Amino acid sequence: MAPPSGKVLSEEEHSKAKAAFEKLGICDQLAEAAASLGWKSPSSIQEQAVPLVLQDKDVIGLAQTGSGKTGAFALPILQALLDKPQALFALVLSPTRELAIQIAEQFEALGAGIGVKCAVLVGGIDMMAQAIALAKRPHIVVGTPGRVVDHLSNTKGFSLKGLRHLVLDEADRLLNMDFEQEIDQILKVIPKERRTQLFSATMTSKVAKLQRACLRDPVKVEVASKYSTVETLRQQYMFVPAKHKDCYLTFLLTELAGSTSIIFTRTCDSTRKIALTLRNLGFGAVPIHGQMSQPKRLGALNKFKAGERNILIATDVASRGLDIPSVDVVINYDVPTNSKDYVHRVGRTARAGRSGRSVTIVTQYDVELYQKIEALIGLRMEAYPAEQEAVLLLLERVGEAQRIATMQMKESDKGKKGKRKGGGDDDDEHHRGLLGAGSGDGRGGGGRGGGFGRGGGFKKRR
Ligand code: AMP
Repeated sequence: MAPPSGKVLSEEEHSKAKAAFEKLGICDQLAEAAASLGWKSPSSIQEQAVPLVLQDKDVIGLAQTGSGKTGAFALPILQALLDKPQALFALVLSPTRELAIQIAEQFEALGAGIGVKCAVLVGGIDMMAQAIALAKRPHIVVGTPGRVVDHLSNTKGFSLKGLRHLVLDEADRLLNMDFEQEIDQILKVIPKERRTQLFSATMTSKVAKLQRACLRDPVKVEVASKYSTVETLRQQYMFVPAKHKDCYLTFLLTELAGSTSIIFTRTCDSTRKIALTLRNLGFGAVPIHGQMSQPKRLGALNKFKAGERNILIATDVASRGLDIPSVDVVINYDVPTNSKDYVHRVGRTARAGRSGRSVTIVTQYDVELYQKIEALIGLRMEAYPAEQEAVLLLLERVGEAQRIATMQMKESDKGKKGKRKGGGDDDDEHHRGLLGAGSGDGRGGGGRGGGFGRGGGFKKRR
């Protein structure tokens, strides 16, 4: 499997990487797997947490997505599995379906050479198919708590009585999503004699309570300060009049042509509307939000991951946990109401040592929220230079694209009410850009290059 970063190490780097993982106590086969994924050296959380679990300690890891935390808990589990192979060896609980799938992918990537079998138990996907996967006696089960409980109660022959390792990933989110009861039910049916790892971006009182309930004499490890953003991230803002927000967004995307971006919005509806507007302008944009069906969400994410689309538009549902290795830019179309979400959003770029950029669009109504964010991260952001005159040249075309998008949404909603007859605006229609700049499917000129590559009428800054 190609490394997720797309990076293949040179022979020298490869053997150095292997040695660095072996120094943590990781065996030859797994160190080889980590190096083959393009991991040059253990990340800070891996360096701290892996040896502890190998020494049979419970661990609390305060770390966010992007820190390499999945590798931190997966490597020692896989090593323990190699020592004592057994079905239903480890259970990883994750707050979202997407994250669960990504965790399983990472277990499979690291465990490819040792024949590790994983099953993913998440909602929105057929129980029967998952029951069949369980019947194949996987080593690792990754799932959302609700669906794991469903299987424990309804799937014949499935039990976690022999479980050796439990991981609670993104525990703060698990608890915010009210999975407490399900976690309790699971704790009741797994052995007390086990290793437990708990990972969380923040240490809330609920997390502390959960920790007391399920970890034994744990060691706490932490990476970076709680709300700092990484040094390799360039954080900018754009102060814009609210009525011209889409125009500024279009301007920005044109300037960033060729980059991969995630645009964060506050609501599902604005995610849909922006995706349609941008596609009408010829950009390769795809939405992902909570109102989409599970297969559509995964389909959208895969198109983005595979590079078929270069702009992902997401609500905060997608802002944590998603493992998207190569995002160049994070755009906050709406300033997040909860400042901590800002940190999670911009955490999608500048990951694993690479550089990245974030641009936050601030209108006259968002100044207070914006100032809160600056206070939280302890940093003054720089202004993104945008000359109003150049931006407003786009006004007419953007207005037309918005008008068509509104119509498309109405049609699609009507279609959905009337027995779901086609009409989905999620990602299955191809639109002609208003400039004829591309088909909107990301493969033509409108995909990577951005819709206004031609005829935009203003010079490029980069
Ligand atoms: P995570 O924080 O587990 O979501 O991981 C974020 C990304 O970092 C994933 O794409 C991993 O494949 C990658 N990653 C994990 N560990 C390392 C490492 N030691 N060096 C480079 N990349 C890593």
